[in-house]
Amino acid sequence: MQYKLQADMKQAKLLKDQVALVTGADSGIGKGVALAMAQVGAKVLINYVHNHYAADEVVKIIKDAGGEAFAHQADVSKEDEVKAMFAKIIETYGTIDILVNNAGLQKDAKFVDMTLDDWNTVIGINLTGQFLCSREAAKEFIKRGVVEDVSVAAGKIICMSSVHEVIPWAGHVNYATSKGGIGMFMKSIAQELAPHKIRVMGIGPGAIQTPINKEAWDTPQALNKLLELIPYNRIGQPDDIGKLAVWLASDEADYITGTTIFMDGGMTLYPGFADNG
Ligand code: NAD
Repeated sequence: MQYKLQADMKQAKLLKDQVALVTGADSGIGKGVALAMAQVGAKVLINYVHNHYAADEVVKIIKDAGGEAFAHQADVSKEDEVKAMFAKIIETYGTIDILVNNAGLQKDAKFVDMTLDDWNTVIGINLTGQFLCSREAAKEFIKRGVVEDVSVAAGKIICMSSVHEVIPWAGHVNYATSKGGIGMFMKSIAQELAPHKIRVMGIGPGAIQTPINKEAWDTPQALNKLLELIPYNRIGQPDDIGKLAVWLASDEADYITGTTIFMDGGMTLYPGFADNG
């Protein structure tokens, strides 16, 4: 096997001519992923549920830089709204190549105090939302197949999971259950869709500085306590996850499917054991 460098060493735009849909892209990690994908040539649907000002701002950042994007409101837990969103992206850009299932939320409570509504809301958005969006994306990927000038895969699905795919979390059983479920959902559909040349992957962020976990970093005391759980000793940023999502969606990662990549500064390394053995 001979290894050759391309004559043109300038890195080609990794997602040139690809169409991406990022759910919950008006805030935090979703915004970071949408901007990172637009930066390398993807056209992006910025999904939001409530804050159209924030979604319009993400679109503006992308358009001001010469990229293509539009905002679309849909609640990912509602089947009719998800179907309408996929119809809109196909009507606008002709197809879709990349789905990033990012939308998610927490509704924390002690287990014995957790209401059925707290449970159903988190499972409905974090887990069922990924099912609804992935099913629509997979249908389009299978129908269209591989377009060689665009990507060697027929489509890519990235499921935003969490370190809580594997780390239990007292007081957050609905959230941790949704993320554990995403792990098995992602692997099962990866197995089923691989023969269609569709790749499905998870990203398991550790602590990323976004509104979802503000109370864990917005005072020096809280941040110091959080850093005890992070061997690499810094909180993550949305663009850390953005860079990983770009790479996973690109043909550079073509042999990856059915696995979650944890991006967590070592949070899953059982840091409590570092000086305890
Ligand atoms: P965030 O609150 O900034 O963003 C969450 C986004 O999801 C928002 O845009 C919100 O409007 C959207 N959303 C919520 N319900 C929705 C619905 N029904 N339909 C469509 N969109 C909806 O938080 P974030 O940290 O950026 O979280 C993004 C994802 O990353 C979530 O799935 C979260 O579980 C995951 N995650 C975050 C961290 C972290 O430390 N920030 C760690 C692990 C996993």
